Amino acid sequence: MLNDDIEKVLITEAEIKYKVHELGGIISSDYRGKDLVLVSVLRGGVVFVADLMRSISIPLTIDFMAISSYGPSTETSGVVKVLKDLEENIYNRHVVVVEDIIDTGLTLGYLLRNLESRKPASINICVLLNKPARRIVDLPIKYKGFDVPDLFVVGYGLDYQQNYRHLPYVGILKKEVYEI
Ligand code: 5GP
Repeated sequence: MLNDDIEKVLITEAEIKYKVHELGGIISSDYRGKDLVLVSVLRGGVVFVADLMRSISIPLTIDFMAISSYGPSTETSGVVKVLKDLEENIYNRHVVVVEDIIDTGLTLGYLLRNLESRKPASINICVLLNKPARRIVDLPIKYKGFDVPDLFVVGYGLDYQQNYRHLPYVGILKKEVYEI
């Protein structure tokens, strides 16, 4: 059932499910025989990684980082503070960073540099949603779910003021929700 605050569903639960299984299948074959670590970014990446890991048929471990971006208002500044670091050592291991959305790319750009300094065997990005319109940092996205237009989306891990993360689809909010 549609949440009352949602104006429109952009990507349905069934579409997400299909895509996540597809990505899981590709990752399973790409990393067969390799020591795979999924690194997810709290809190938005949690829903995606929980589904994705269950679509991957090879052995893996998961770990989490929590980061916050400094800077004015809601704009990403690219200056990122690590609130929670990995618990696993990723040296010489194959890392896939699992993120909910890439917008400007500043946050993930920072994170990649941070993880690369730990000398993993390889590092690739898996992102559910890609918003190419506002990209500042060009990132090599190996695994991608969907391109989305330059709209603020919520659901499937993505929040507005910490709400709506639990919605099983990706949608846009009604204007009045922002205007309250
Ligand atoms: P970037 O550094 O790529 O500009 O921003 C990435 C972060 O901004 C995401 O991890 C997410 O937290 C937030 N973000 C960017 N676009 C959206 C959006 O449409 N909806 C939500 N809920 N968060 C977004």
